[in-house]
Amino acid sequence: MIENLTPPATPDVLKQARVDFPILSRTVNGKPLIYLDNAASTQKPQSVIDAVSRYYSHENANIHRGVHLLSTEATAAYESARQKLARYLNASDESEIIFTRGATESINLVAHSFLEPIINAGEEILISHMEHHANIVPWQLLAKRTGARLRVAPIDDHGNLELDTCLSMIGPKTKLVGIVHVSNSIGTVNPIESIVTAARERGIATLIDCAQSIQHMPLDVQSMGCDFVVFSGHKMFAPTGIGGLYGRKSLLGKMRPYQGGGDMISRVSFDGTTFKEPPSRFEAGTPHIAGAIGLGFALDYIESIGRETIHNYESQLIEYAVGRLKNCQGVEIIGNPEHRSGAISFTMENAHPHDIGTILDTEGVAIRTGHHCCEPLMTRFGISATARASIAFYNNSDDIDVLVDSLTKVRTLFG
Ligand code: PLP
Repeated sequence: MIENLTPPATPDVLKQARVDFPILSRTVNGKPLIYLDNAASTQKPQSVIDAVSRYYSHENANIHRGVHLLSTEATAAYESARQKLARYLNASDESEIIFTRGATESINLVAHSFLEPIINAGEEILISHMEHHANIVPWQLLAKRTGARLRVAPIDDHGNLELDTCLSMIGPKTKLVGIVHVSNSIGTVNPIESIVTAARERGIATLIDCAQSIQHMPLDVQSMGCDFVVFSGHKMFAPTGIGGLYGRKSLLGKMRPYQGGGDMISRVSFDGTTFKEPPSRFEAGTPHIAGAIGLGFALDYIESIGRETIHNYESQLIEYAVGRLKNCQGVEIIGNPEHRSGAISFTMENAHPHDIGTILDTEGVAIRTGHHCCEPLMTRFGISATARASIAFYNNSDDIDVLVDSLTKVRTLFG
């Protein structure tokens, strides 16, 4: 990817953004907070915090089952969040949006309700070498239960997916291709269009893990053409414990429930139970109502800036960060993908990533260190951990400059 040492100008629409996120004005260890751990979780704007607080102070009630006003209002707010998500992703119908706890639960739901009933021993699930554990372990568990085989498309030394090999691995035995859109560790943006097209031509289902793309770039599930998309609210400025699954209507309608309980049934007797249509079929029990409402307000916030604006600005900021880190003595960037979004992983000659993270914390700079739930990817690069800086639209070139200055201090300390 291009590196650029010219700091990008902050677009007018983003100039106020930092003020909208109250936590960004706090100090850490006596220094202004520089939050560069957005791939792990993003901060929340005041509008989301207020929406959650307003729900608990004015509307709090259980949804779908009540006739009283509070329940009606809570139901309307919860369902309005679903409509917002459907519009945000350009789903053809709001019933294609299922609320879950996050990307992890969404993948487990697809494994249990979609794939397990139709996969046979010897058939295959294809993933890539750069998946988060959330898109590895549920398939491994499923493979163990069914005798299916988990296959892994390789990546090259720069951290790009080896596309031709990946496409050649999609064959008559493949039942599902599950690929991450953007790597949480090394920031690679995968060519999901080619993969989805190849799978669809053979009638094979596709799941795209958009946990690290939905907050950074426009997404349109109809033009992507995939069958499932998974994501987490807390990585897109919404509360923790809420996220979602987009599923193609024709597939969701045939899928078995994920969990049983209240709100997902049509009729229950001791002779048997019938289930509601999606999305209710997949939302057993009382959901995270406040979380869903907060997610709806997070989408409003993102839309008020504009997804193209966010994407363009962040692309320049990440190029600037790559440029600065490449020129920072002692720093080695792990992976040099053709297209990058959101995250940069790096190591330093004499300092362990945990030491880097600890010293940066004393400077007020929050980054993540470790394997980032991508142990196979770390093994591929012959390392056990990296330090990772990851951005959101509220970051700017000053944040990157403080990061690089703080890394210079790490080098001085560790020689
Ligand atoms: N997929 C990717 C690419 C991620 O980065 C993450 C979290 O870091 C997940 C899945 C799992 O998300 P969650 O823990 O919110 O379910």
